[in-house]
Amino acid sequence: MVANLAHGQTKQSPTQSNWIPYAMPTIFGSEADLVTDALRSTWISGGPYVDEFERQIARLNRTPYAIAVSNGTTALHLALLGLGIGPGDEVVVPAFTFAAAANMALAVGARIVTADVDPETWCLDPGSVEQVVTDRTRAIIAVHLYGNMVEMDTLVEVANHAHAALIEDAAEAAFSQYKGRAAGTIGRIGTLSFHAAKTITTGEGGMVMTADEDLFRRMMLLRNQGMRKGKPYWHDVAGHNFRLTNVQAAIGCAQLKELESIRSERRRVHCSYRRSLRNISGFREQVFPNTVDALLWAVAGQLTGDDVPLHSMEAQRDEVIVKMRDEGIEVRPGFYTLGSLPPYSCKEYPNARRVAASVISLPTYPALTDEKIQRICEVLEQALRDSTP
Ligand SMILES: *Cc1c(COP(=O)(O)O)cnc(C)c1O
Repeated sequence: MVANLAHGQTKQSPTQSNWIPYAMPTIFGSEADLVTDALRSTWISGGPYVDEFERQIARLNRTPYAIAVSNGTTALHLALLGLGIGPGDEVVVPAFTFAAAANMALAVGARIVTADVDPETWCLDPGSVEQVVTDRTRAIIAVHLYGNMVEMDTLVEVANHAHAALIEDAAEAAFSQYKGRAAGTIGRIGTLSFHAAKTITTGEGGMVMTADEDLFRRMMLLRNQGMRKGKPYWHDVAGHNFRLTNVQAAIGCAQLKELESIRSERRRVHCSYRRSLRNISGFREQVFPNTVDALLWAVAGQLTGDDVPLHSMEAQRDEVIVKMRDEGIEVRPGFYTLGSLPPYSCKEYPNARRVAASVISLPTYPALTDEKIQRICEVLEQALRDSTP
């Protein structure tokens, strides 16, 4: 049986009480207070919570500048515009990734060039990037997947050698660290997302981080139509509206007060999964290098069997996903490779294809209890056993 994920009818639905969603934001309580404060102040577009949220994000990530934007996708758009990337330029993106990085490279008129990922960490492989850079490469977008991070020291070297700007899409790796440095602060620009499913949320929202003052000024200008501060309707450059609202930033400020509890609960969830997943045959976890201190966005693993043909592996993986949904557990496949998707005509790679065909990511959020994690792992084990290899 080939499971159809898009139209799969499941026996259980999200309205049932024992349904375990893939992700769920934790709302602690002070969100409502700060939102009310923002509303009462009448500052509901821009306002002091936006400035405060930016200050907090910059401080917590130990980086000089943070610019709040409307979401994690516009954060990437602003990063590319800030770097002046456009038609004729090439942007390197991972062959296995959430598509936002590729979409925004195309949005600014650049050409996307894919590079392969590491078979164990699933993140962009610097060695593969080195093979595809040309004198037209203007940027490399490192996407830190599921909370794991790209091997940054090597990638920084490759980027420097190619005279290309390194952008980190840290939407899934907020507060993860590589050798003690926060995700999104190692390249020239880093971006975050505050979607409801992400580690810190504002509903929709994003952030751009940089240590480069000129770049910071340019991006501040571009965020607000290119209009000069203090000189209304005077446009220095043609910009955009990428702003985050004060109401959303108020939610973000409240969330950051609880960062330590979000961090510890996500670590508990990760440890709890590790204990149970260890004993499941036919499934292995994403590998975290010892240079990475990961704050996981999602716990994920992959079906084993490197000699199994890709199409059988993908069919079995999809079957497992449907079986788990039938048991009321919302799990997700990995991303499809960019080269396999209609909008992007780019090169395919063996590691990326294997990862794309075999990954299953599991429910991960602070409120997920150890009992539920145990149930998820039991259902996963059963589904693997019952599916067609
Ligand atoms: C979520 C996500 C984005 C996009 O963020 P939005 O806030 O939803 O626009 C970009 N890149 C990656 C890797 C993501 O996971």
